[in-house]
Amino acid sequence: MGAQLGRLRDGLVDFLFPVHCLACGSEGSYICRSCRRTLPRLLPPVCLKCGRPLIRDDRCSVCARWKLEIDGIRSVFVFQGLVRRAVHQFKYNNLRALAFPLADLVAGDLKARPLPVDVVVAVPLHRRRLRGRGYNQSALLARELSQMVGLPLVEGSLVRVKDSPAQVKAAGADERRENVRGAFSCRDGQMSGRHVLLIDDVCTTGATLDACAMALKAAGASSVWGLTLAREA
Ligand SMILES: [Zn+2]
Ligand SMILES: [Zn+2]
Repeated sequence: MGAQLGRLRDGLVDFLFPVHCLACGSEGSYICRSCRRTLPRLLPPVCLKCGRPLIRDDRCSVCARWKLEIDGIRSVFVFQGLVRRAVHQFKYNNLRALAFPLADLVAGDLKARPLPVDVVVAVPLHRRRLRGRGYNQSALLARELSQMVGLPLVEGSLVRVKDSPAQVKAAGADERRENVRGAFSCRDGQMSGRHVLLIDDVCTTGATLDACAMALKAAGASSVWGLTLAREA
């Protein structure tokens, strides 16, 4: 009954407040089919470990200095243009309905290039930040994605125990890494032996994903792959 009422309400909302493309304004969806084709894909050369775009096919200078715990990070798009605008609406303007179209884009990438994973986990927010925002955008993405690709979602196992200051944009990779050190914890046995697909909206240096991977592996996860919608170039 609740679900039916929910659908009825959603249908009514769509009817009263039609959805428009964030880029071209055409009616029908937040990212229309023609704008979808113009989204800035993250193309090679990309570091296969940390997912960083490389200038040439060089060795990644970041990975040369650090040994990441995470098995690999992959992002679908460059964090710019329509992708940037959509993430901003999704994250800060309460446009939760974007979870579906954005997760669909990530699911498309995962189906085209599968990763060796058996469970989906979202990068968690600290409970204080969750209270402030009302929702965790990465959890919404992960929830939709898990249904789209048919992988179980585990919520509440990985938690953020330290609310480090919001990652300053100008902060270098070392500083960001220091900021998230010990910020995550995983204390139950649910991750034991699992091959985790870790979901976040945007990856900047990979420091957050790697800190999550450390906690997941300390809790027994066999492997952790990070997959994000976008990557800061
Ligand atoms: Zn459009
Ligand atoms: Zn790298």
